Amino acid sequence: MTNTADYIQQIRNDFPALHQEVNGKPLIYLDNGATTHKPNAVIEAEAEFYRTVNSNVHRGAHKLSDLATEQFENARRTVQEFIGAIKPEEIVWTRGTTEGINLVAATWGRKNLSKGDRILVSGMEHHSNIVPWQMLCEQTGAELVVIPVLDNGELDLNGFAELMEPRVKLIAVTHVSNALGTVNPIPDIVRMARINESVVLVDGAQAVAHFDVDVLQLDVDFYVFSSHKLFGPTGMGVLYGKEELLNEMPPYQGGGEMIEHCSFDGTTYNVLPYKFEAGTPNIAGAIGLATAIKYLKGLDRKLLVKHEESLIQHAHQLAAELGGIRIIGEAPKKASVFSFLLEGAHPADVGTLLDQQGIAVRTGHHCTMPLMARFDVPGTVRASMSIYNTLDEVDALFKGLEKAKMFLL
Ligand code: PMP
Repeated sequence: MTNTADYIQQIRNDFPALHQEVNGKPLIYLDNGATTHKPNAVIEAEAEFYRTVNSNVHRGAHKLSDLATEQFENARRTVQEFIGAIKPEEIVWTRGTTEGINLVAATWGRKNLSKGDRILVSGMEHHSNIVPWQMLCEQTGAELVVIPVLDNGELDLNGFAELMEPRVKLIAVTHVSNALGTVNPIPDIVRMARINESVVLVDGAQAVAHFDVDVLQLDVDFYVFSSHKLFGPTGMGVLYGKEELLNEMPPYQGGGEMIEHCSFDGTTYNVLPYKFEAGTPNIAGAIGLATAIKYLKGLDRKLLVKHEESLIQHAHQLAAELGGIRIIGEAPKKASVFSFLLEGAHPADVGTLLDQQGIAVRTGHHCTMPLMARFDVPGTVRASMSIYNTLDEVDALFKGLEKAKMFLL
């Protein structure tokens, strides 16, 4: 039996971008929350599509178009199975998490919300799960209400329960916080939502790459994620919605593909999911995402979950040993996101010094400015780990921080 370290090395071999030097040092890539690298299989699947089939879908005019359609719709089924949706019709292609949320706000939101209604979001949301709702509130007169976050980065479930009332029509929360790593208790949230008959949208951008997600088991109404954080290509994403909700929603954008019949007297709309997919879609992106999912399913995911846990535990332990580190986000249930401040140093300076050592992290507000204000920090340094990171890389991060400490303090 291979040990975990060997297994991770094997996985690393599938990701060509990991094997390069940056600033004269071997790359240590700890910015997976921003985007993950892509395995050869994904890069090859996209290239192969353009090299061979490269035709538009749903036109049925020739053999290659049929082949493109088949691959494109098979990709939808791969996603459907991956997240446990009942039907492929419930999988809508988007450009990413951001577009998925905007779609729900512009269609379900405008149809169902009016003055006096409430939308609950948590205090740890990414801007993409805040601003579309603020825009919707401006348009409808609905009100945005914030579920508080506790000092350790957990969602305040008591505070949440107090906010639940009949005016709450929608709850939009992240599954995993990109800035804290907190894994939110979606089943608890859904349970309370059902009593109140509120609709639940979950932002799964930071979840799907870290653990299995089953939308049916979670019983969420909408679930959104991006391909590029799941080892797939950029410009591609998924909106899952329950069929009955999607059916009742008006279309998002108008154009080709989304119509059943078009005349100057009026237009009727296509069936699901095409009603929401105006224009030529990102065909290669869908094939690339499906390939990423198949790649991930071919790995020992249980072992990888454990491996990521050991990476984050190791980071917390080394932080305690090094001292002078303020960790932002210490929820008991957290993904492999290590967000911190080196006391006395600005996060941007720490990031620059790490970059000089070939260590890629993200610094700043992580598109969660309200959360940064909640913790009264200008931003943090964030090391976000993935399946291919090693304990040695976490060691290197802390060696880098030791150097940064000597230089900056
Ligand atoms: N939500 C969360 C929790 C995220 O981390 C991100 C990306 N940082 C997004 C939404 C937005 O994703 P995208 O830019 O791929 O649309």
